[in-house]
This record gives sequence, structure tokens and C-alpha cells, in this order.
Amino acid sequence: SVSAGIVGLPNVGKSTTYNALTNAGAESANYPFCTIDPNKGVVAVPDPRLKRIQKYIPTDRVIPAAVDIWDIAGLVRGASKGEGRGNKFLADIREVDAILHVVRCFDDPNVTHVDGSVSPIRDIETIELELILADAQSVEKRLDKTRRAAKSGDKTEIARLEVLEKIHAALDQGMPARKVSLDPQEEALIYDSHLLTLKPVLYVANVAEDDLDGNSEHVAKVRQYAEETNASVVTICGTIEAELAQLSEEDRQEMLDGLGIEEPALHVLIRATYSLLGLRSFFTAGVQEIRAWTIYEGYTAPQAAGVIHTDFEKRFIRAEVFTLEDLEQYGSEAGIKAAGKLRLEGKEYMVKDGDIMHFRHNA
Ligand code: GDP
Repeated sequence: SVSAGIVGLPNVGKSTTYNALTNAGAESANYPFCTIDPNKGVVAVPDPRLKRIQKYIPTDRVIPAAVDIWDIAGLVRGASKGEGRGNKFLADIREVDAILHVVRCFDDPNVTHVDGSVSPIRDIETIELELILADAQSVEKRLDKTRRAAKSGDKTEIARLEVLEKIHAALDQGMPARKVSLDPQEEALIYDSHLLTLKPVLYVANVAEDDLDGNSEHVAKVRQYAEETNASVVTICGTIEAELAQLSEEDRQEMLDGLGIEEPALHVLIRATYSLLGLRSFFTAGVQEIRAWTIYEGYTAPQAAGVIHTDFEKRFIRAEVFTLEDLEQYGSEAGIKAAGKLRLEGKEYMVKDGDIMHFRHNA
């Protein structure tokens, strides 16, 4: 499954955020997952469309899509040289698909900062530098091997060498590998190096309770930095999210109303993570259950069927497809069919985010 890792300096709010995320996931009664280990959890992707489908197709089982979230603690200056939990830390980041970089944007004299003061950009750069240094080490090793292999005239190795040299030059100037524009073929050539700075990053600006509007000077700096490096920012207040995650649905709504916000910032964070990973959802809906399934952008109907069961992909016949808008207009699947709006799609069909589907197969 797809995963995102929470990273950041000590005392910036990583575990507060992680605990709020995993608590919030546990509250959903029909949630078929649980915590994998203390630092790896499965988090439900909040999707208001599920409730809208349930209004027309009543069932007690509603299963949201999910992403794995890891709490990767232990990064300190010098991690790339093995300081702190350096090696373990880097190995964990290597395994995740995306990075959620928590940045401290709250001033609080009671919470010490490893570098003595709150300074979001300095903190971001401290972490990025460790990742860049670790990548430089991996790329240099790989360069040596590839140079030798390329001598034989092998075209793939020569192409790989070019990509590695481009990345090495960027790292050498203190830039993350994601700043180098690579086409999908180039990316495939170095995919197995699992470079840390090639992974997409979302900055999570952790603000003080009274900065919920996200207009503080600290946050402004993070936003500007993110813009310059093609990354996104989500603002949260870790302590408020931790509190919200522990409340019943009713009490939570009351607290949200009191704060004047529509939904927990964690929901925004999870959805942003999902989209950072290039993920989309389609739905299956019947009286037994309504369920969101995770696919990548560009999946065909048989590939989507394969997410449910590999046999459905192999023995795919066709898909019946409708949209939530159809359902809301015609009131039921029968109504959609009677209106001639139930589409039959074949093997070439590209599944769209939000499609509601039945698969015909001979499995
Ligand atoms: P980690 O080391 O990055 O995992 O940080 P923690 O989540 O353990 O948080 C460190 C301290 O900062 C704890 O005492 C938290 O209660 C506090 N903290 C976390 N988020 C916030 C926040 O948004 N505002 C304030 N004032 N304190 C926070």
C-alpha cells in the first residue's frame, strides 16, 4: 500500500500530529484496519462523497480509502553521517512514497527547540541538507558502478549515467533531486536508488492555537519557501487536532463550530497527502457495502478491477459506470438505467476520480 512518512526536527509536533491522525482513523466503526506498529498506522481518507452515496444506497458498511502513515522520528543535524538514529531514520524514509515535513511555526517558551529559537526556514534547511547529503552518498556510489558499466557501450547504462550526473550536479549545489526535471523514462532509470530528495514533499506548518487562520509570519515564510521549491503547505495546530481527534462526533462538531472552522485540518492534510501521491478514488456501492478504492491517475477499467481482485483484471468483461451526480439526479441505479445514463465501458476506459462502478467478469 501507499505510504507517507512524517519527518521533522525534534519537538516540532510530529508525534502529536501522528497520534491525532491515527486516533481519528480508529474512531470509524467499520474501519477494517488497525495500527501496524507504534510508529506505523493506517489512516482513513475522509471523503464526503461516501455519505452522499449512502443517502441513495443505504448500507451500514462504509469503507473509506486509506493511506499508511509512518512517524519517522530521530532526525538531527549529522544524521547523514550516522548521528542520532541517523541510519534507521534514513532507511525508513527510503521506504515511504512521500514526505510530510512538519515545521514548527508555534512560539512556546515551554517547548524547547533543539536550535534555541523558532525559525521555520532554518529548520527546513537543516533537514533537507541531511537528505541531500545522504542522497549524494548514494548517487556517488551508483555513479562509480554505472561509469564502469557504461564503458561497455551499453545504451541503458549510458543513459543512466547521464541522469545520475545531472542529479549529482544538483545535489552538489545543495538542491534536492526533485528540482531536476526528469521525464518518466529518466526517472525509471534511477528509481531503484530510492533517492530521498526525489520524493514529493508536503510541508505541515504546525501553528499556535491563536494562529489557526494561517496568517502568521512563520507560516508566510514556509509558504514562500514551498512556492520556490514546487511543494505545498498545509497549516495545522497539532494540539487542537489532538483534542478534536479524541472527541465524539457531536462534541467535535461543537468544538469546530466554536473555532469557526468547517472540518479538522487533519482532513485537509490527509487529502493533500493522497493527491501528493497522485492517488484517485473510485467507488463500489451496493446494499452490502459502499467502498472507496485507491487507484493511480491513468488507470484503465481492468486495472481498477484488479485493485479489488487480481482475477477481476484478468477476466474483465466490462464495467458499468455512473457518477454521483447521476445518482443524485435520478435517485437510484434503476433510475439511472431507465434514463439511459448507465454507461458500459470496455478495456480501454480510463477511470475517473469519483466513478461509481460495477465490474462484469467471468472470474
Ligand atoms: P516531536 O518531537 O516532533 O514528535 O514533537 P511532539 O509532538 O512530541 O511535541 C513536542 C511538544 O510540543 C509537546 O509538548 C507538544 O504538546 C507541543 N506541541 C505540539 N504541537 C503544538 C502546537 O501546535 N502548539 C503548541 N503550543 N504546542 C505544541
